[in-house]
Amino acid sequence: MSGADTMGNGSGDAGGALAAALFAPMGSDGIYGRTRLYEDVLQHLTDFVTRERDPRAEVLRFPPVMSRAQLEKSGYLKSFPNLLGCVCSLHGTEREILTAALQHESGGDWTRSLGASDLVLSPAACYPSYPIVAARGPLPSGGVILDVAADCFRQEPSRSLDRLRSFRMREYVRIGSAEDILEFREHWMARAKQLAAELALPCELDVASDPFFGRVGQVMAVSQRQNSLKFELLIPFSPGAKPTACMSFNYHQDHFGAIWDLRRMDGEVAHTGCVAFGMDRLAVALFSIHGVNLARWPHSVRHALGF
Ligand code: ATP
Ligand code: ZN
Ligand code: MG
Repeated sequence: MSGADTMGNGSGDAGGALAAALFAPMGSDGIYGRTRLYEDVLQHLTDFVTRERDPRAEVLRFPPVMSRAQLEKSGYLKSFPNLLGCVCSLHGTEREILTAALQHESGGDWTRSLGASDLVLSPAACYPSYPIVAARGPLPSGGVILDVAADCFRQEPSRSLDRLRSFRMREYVRIGSAEDILEFREHWMARAKQLAAELALPCELDVASDPFFGRVGQVMAVSQRQNSLKFELLIPFSPGAKPTACMSFNYHQDHFGAIWDLRRMDGEVAHTGCVAFGMDRLAVALFSIHGVNLARWPHSVRHALGF
């Protein structure tokens, strides 16, 4: 997928028409206003995912920002420094702030006066979960399941509708023993294929790696693959197109457990894993494959989504 204009919907509709039906341009690549049609489908998709929630899951909804210190401690800068968006603001006295802001009026660069704040834009929904659970002390027996969501940001500008800079991520997070996580992940990989079938989305499931930054990152990616730590549900948005990852199934081993001192009841360091739904990607996949006219979507898909 190399651009919005390559994203036909398989029914002869040009990519430009697809974009126009779903999004309003906001002057920056990968950042869009969303139409009523699009949000309506996204809401039904959200409810569709909620119906799959384990009754034991604790629900947490996060804002689009999180603690910079927590993300630093999570190791994000070692893996994806290129993707991070940081909240910056003008600091100092009234006079200093005014001088900086007025730079703009005189054609200068006010942004040189910006300083990093204590916040970053969340790059994934699950990061804040681990310190929250760790702060409660040892895990209850059977571990923990969370249902989390956040608006996420990644600095990966693209004109393609399947690669946004601001997008919504929903995740089911599992914290417990290694066996708990692997069982959870197995369940979800099987279930995800069934859900894709209910939505009449062609898909394949494959082992994957994260886009770790730089040369050291390449080594990390190889090891992640060799250990089958990440799988993705891949969907071709048009016949023959290179498939796009719409869900991921991640096993972090004891990475977050060790960082946050997450302990099981027996004192062992907890393992963690998560299943992530790229909500915007799934919505764009539905429109790309079934078209922008909801009335013409397969009856089974409309039914599955509660339309
Ligand atoms: P990709 O390989 O496409 O970059 P990723 O491995 O970076 O994906 P994850 O970190 O596993 O993705 O994020 C979970 C899910 O969030 C992805 O499976 C995808 O559906 C969605 N997602 C990730 N990046 C974007 C993006 N830039 N725009 C829209 N959705 C995204
Ligand atoms: Zn996650
Ligand atoms: Mg990525």
